[in-house]
Amino acid sequence: MGPVTDIGNLIFAELRAEFDGWGEPAYRAKQVFEWLYQKGADSFSAMTDLPKGLRQRLEDTFRLGVLELAEQLRSEDGTEKFLFRLTDGQLIETVLIPSGSRRTLCLSTQVGCKFACVFCASGAGGFERNLVPSEMLGQILFLRDKLDVRLTNFVFMGMGEPLDNLDNLVRTVRIMNAPEGMGIAARRITISTVGIVPAIEKLEGLGLQVSLSLSLHATTDELRSRLLPVNRKYPLAAVIKAAAHYARTTGRMITIEYILISGLNDTATDARRLASLARKLRAKVNLIPYSPGCGPGFRPSPGPRQEAFLQTLESLGVGATVRRSKGGDIRAACGQLAGKKRGS
Ligand code: SF4
Repeated sequence: MGPVTDIGNLIFAELRAEFDGWGEPAYRAKQVFEWLYQKGADSFSAMTDLPKGLRQRLEDTFRLGVLELAEQLRSEDGTEKFLFRLTDGQLIETVLIPSGSRRTLCLSTQVGCKFACVFCASGAGGFERNLVPSEMLGQILFLRDKLDVRLTNFVFMGMGEPLDNLDNLVRTVRIMNAPEGMGIAARRITISTVGIVPAIEKLEGLGLQVSLSLSLHATTDELRSRLLPVNRKYPLAAVIKAAAHYARTTGRMITIEYILISGLNDTATDARRLASLARKLRAKVNLIPYSPGCGPGFRPSPGPRQEAFLQTLESLGVGATVRRSKGGDIRAACGQLAGKKRGS
């Protein structure tokens, strides 16, 4: 059996400490990080400016995991979905969303999900396991290095609840952020959450300066607990308080995600309550018309009601947009493709 530790799970300080222990000079760790995260090396033998002995030692000590592409689908609207097979055969999906000069990558953080939000295919399939940093970073490296996509923005909003895998997520963000790593500015990174309050507080304390996107979807505890069972544990008031604190401390803007479901959460009263919550957070709101096929018999709000909802928010001073769910024809929403494959 080969080495079990994937080098892609190590933050820079850890690799440097390992190299210290080997008696290697500090700049060697920097070279290796540059090979991994800037030059797209997918094997130790490709790191040609390292001494042969060091390459061999790396080979003997670490794995260098590379994701295997299982399927690639392209939507009529330009959205592309990538289904990756991990070394244990599990499947995850990554979505590339082009918009003007932006290329946003929507990254998975877990195989499946524990939280069972009623409109989400990832939740419906149950939870399998957390992704490790190399598997999250691998999604970026594949697109950037194998497909030559100039990625501009990164959202942890694919399969899984990112803050339920906080330690691995933080390592991943540190490697993305590090000048020796990918050198991606924190303001280009957004972490989405259903509102795991202790994890929001912990994230705030780490000083990472990443943006937070809150999946709200309802403005009362009664409805939110029906749509997102996690609300029974972390009710609205606690989530809003934690997010407001995060915004104040980090200076980062919060985004509220709100799926508009016909007859359920799309009345004028809902819009007014949402405006009040958004103002507390100084958040902007993304309204997302419900995508059929993601939940039990829901329907998207009709166009005029979406428009009225948007106007109510704007008239109350809240910045909002209606974001058409992209890639509907390739099942790009809510873990549908991996869910289908896992279930088949
Ligand atoms: S919406 Fe997010 S947290 Fe809820 S079940 Fe889906 S992946 Fe999990």
